[in-house]
Amino acid sequence: MLSLYDTLTREVRTLETRELGRIGIYLCGPTVYGPPHLGHGRATLVYDILRRYLEWCGLQVRLVSNITDIDDKIIDRANREQRPWQDITQKCENVWFDAMSRLGVKRPTDVPHATEYVDHMVKMISDLESRGAAYKTSDGMYLDVSKVPDYGALAHQSLDDMLSGGGDREVLGANEKRNAADFALWKFSKPGEPSWPAPWGAGRPGWHSECVVMSLELLGEGFDLHCGGADLRFPHHENERAQAVALGRRFARHWMHNGFVVDAEGEKMSKSLGNVANLIDLLDQYDPRAYRMLLLQTHYRSPVKVGRDNIDASVKALAGLDSFAARSESLVASGKATPDAEVVARFRATMDNDLDTANAMALIFDTVRRANTAIDAASPDAAPLAAAVREMCTALGLELGSGQRVNDDEFAFAREKAAALDAARAAKDFTRADALRAELQAAGWLVETTKQGTTLRRT
Ligand SMILES: [Zn+2]
Repeated sequence: MLSLYDTLTREVRTLETRELGRIGIYLCGPTVYGPPHLGHGRATLVYDILRRYLEWCGLQVRLVSNITDIDDKIIDRANREQRPWQDITQKCENVWFDAMSRLGVKRPTDVPHATEYVDHMVKMISDLESRGAAYKTSDGMYLDVSKVPDYGALAHQSLDDMLSGGGDREVLGANEKRNAADFALWKFSKPGEPSWPAPWGAGRPGWHSECVVMSLELLGEGFDLHCGGADLRFPHHENERAQAVALGRRFARHWMHNGFVVDAEGEKMSKSLGNVANLIDLLDQYDPRAYRMLLLQTHYRSPVKVGRDNIDASVKALAGLDSFAARSESLVASGKATPDAEVVARFRATMDNDLDTANAMALIFDTVRRANTAIDAASPDAAPLAAAVREMCTALGLELGSGQRVNDDEFAFAREKAAALDAARAAKDFTRADALRAELQAAGWLVETTKQGTTLRRT
C-alpha cells in the first residue's frame, strides 16, 4: 500500500482511503491568464504519475482539478488589452490543455470552473458569517482566523513567523482586518468588473474560497488527498483548510506537496535553457517526454533544476529506452510474455515508499541492461524482463518509441519486412532474406537475427 509524506502531519503515512479501492484527489489547477510555466508542468506531471501508478495498482481514481477563471490577474490583463475577460480565460484554457496533452498528462476526471460554483461560494460565506467566522469590510468579506483554533497547522509556523516572512499581499495590508492573517472570501467589484450578486454586495469570490468549495462539493467531506506545489501550502492551502475547519467540516485526510523548479546555478531559467521561458517553449524545443523523464529521476519533494544539461541527459536516456523498446518489440509484441514477477514486485515496493520514482527509474535501467544481456544470450529470461520494462514504463506514463511516433507507418512497414525476412529464412530462401535485410539497412535499421526472430533497432 502506498505511503506518502503527509505535509500536515510531517510523517510518512500509509494512504488510507475513505472507500476501499477508490481514491478522490483534489489538485489545484491553473489561473488562466497566461501561458503555463515550468512549475505548472511539474505539478501536473507529478500528480499524473501518481494517478497512473494508482490506476495501475487497480484503484479507481477520481482526480478533480479546477480552472480558476475569475481572478484579479485575469481582470488586470483584460483591462490592459481591452478584451473581454472570457476571451482570455477560454484561450488560455485551450493552451493549457494542449500543453498537458503534449506532456502526456491525462485529463482530470473533473474540471470544475470557479465561475460555475459562485452560488455555492456565496452560500459557504453566508454559513461562515452565521457562525461568526466571517465579517464585512469596505472592500469585501473576510475570514477571522482567530476563530480557527489550529490556523497555521499546515504551514507548521506560528502566525507571527508566517507574517514576518511576508506571506502574500492578501495576508498583509487592509487596515480594517481584525487579524493580520485574515483573508478575503469575497471581493466587492469596482464599476465595469465582472460581478455576481451576493447579500453583502456584488463581487467575486476569493481564490481560497473557490478551491475549498469545489473540492468539498465534488469529493465530499474527508476526501482522500489534496495536492499541489509547495508554493501553495501557505497561504492558499492553509486558508482553504481554515474555511473548512471554521465550518466544522472535515477536509482532506492527506496533503501532498511537490518541490520547486529552481534556476540552474542561480541563472534565470530562460537563460540556462536558451529560449525556454515557459512550458510551451520547452515542449517546442525538446522531446515532450523529456520533462517527465527528468521529474521521474528526481524525488517529487526535492527541488529540481531545469537546465540544458539535465534535459539533454533526459533526452539521451529516452533514446536508450526507445532503442530497447524497438529491439525487444518482437519479444513482447504478442502480449504473451508475462512481466518478470520479482522485478514488478520490487518496482511496487519502491513506488509505495513515498513515490520513489528515482529508484524506480534506476530499476528500469537495470532491467534494460539485464534484458539486453538475455537477448544477446538468446536466454528465455529476455521476454519476461522486456515485458517488465514495458509494464513499469506504462505505470509511470512513459510512452516508449514515441521518439519515432511521427514514423509509426515507417515502423509498421519495417516490421512487415522483418516478418517477411523471417519467413524467407525459414524457407531457406537466403537470396530473398539478404535482399530484405539490405532493404531494411538502407532504410536506417540495425537488423539483428536472434532465435526469437528478427529484431530492429534504429541506427
Ligand atoms: Zn486551490
